[in-house]
Amino acid sequence: MDIKHVGVIGAGQMGNGIAQTFALSGFRVTMVDVKPEFVQKGLATVQASLGKFAEKGKIKEADKVAALERLGTATDTSSAGSWDFAVEAVVENEKLKKDLFRDLDAKCRPGVILATNTSSISITEIAAATKRPDCVIGMHFMNPVPLMPLVEVIRGHATSDATCAATVELAKKLGKTPLEANDYPGFVANRILMPMINEAVFALWEGVASRESIDGIMKLGMNHPMGPLTLADFIGLDTCLAILEVLHRGLGDDKYRPCPLLRKMVAAGHLGKKTGRGFYTYG
Ligand code: NAD
Repeated sequence: MDIKHVGVIGAGQMGNGIAQTFALSGFRVTMVDVKPEFVQKGLATVQASLGKFAEKGKIKEADKVAALERLGTATDTSSAGSWDFAVEAVVENEKLKKDLFRDLDAKCRPGVILATNTSSISITEIAAATKRPDCVIGMHFMNPVPLMPLVEVIRGHATSDATCAATVELAKKLGKTPLEANDYPGFVANRILMPMINEAVFALWEGVASRESIDGIMKLGMNHPMGPLTLADFIGLDTCLAILEVLHRGLGDDKYRPCPLLRKMVAAGHLGKKTGRGFYTYG
């Protein structure tokens, strides 16, 4: 299928980055969120990010303008009938995603691929909410999307070879490196990353070291670009907790139980950078 117009559902930190990446690669994009202010915030982030790219000479001013012209917004999925590909990037909640996929399945033309940016939820189960499970796939971008080269491509039980090949091809057109993983809780990226982040939160909770020491030890000692607590703030503590719940439930092993401190911080609304407060505070 010739993909020209892409629907991106969710204008949060991942959705707006995905929308920007598609628009900059020449695709027409409709970025959807539930409220005009969320859409506006997503659009402002894209404008600022493209502005920085242009200032630094990574793209031409004309490329920035053209990308913004290709990027439309909406507060519902009523235009889905004109999309050639859809990427979902709403909050990490299984029921919400299944409801959305049911809606997209009813509105998108037959054969249009419905991709999810889920960090951990079963692609097979999301696909089963639709009448086109062969056309449903995981397309897991990394944060920040415009800068990170990896796309983890995850096939559900019924995902067709054609859907997988088209998604791999599309990721390459975005200048990304697609790597395939099978449909297990957390796939590869978060199966390995989240236990490390959770362990860092346990270390803080148990008083093993200060947040600065924990992050500093992992940065300087392991050569990680940022410490695990800073990374958790960056990902969003609600997203980290949701992923750990999926790992814990899905793999049935207590080594994945989320640290009580993480639960408490999410309950308090301290979700990290996006709310201005997590393990650190942000201006
Ligand atoms: P976020 O909280 O920044 O944004 C989520 C957005 O979805 C919000 O703007 C919300 O209003 C919107 N939304 C909720 N219900 C919606 C609906 N029915 N229709 C349209 N929009 C809706 O979250 P995020 O960090 O962008 O994460 C989004 C997805 O990407 C999650 O599945 C997450 O697991 C995954 N992900 C996150 C990261 C990360 O580092 N944060 C990395 C890879 C994948």
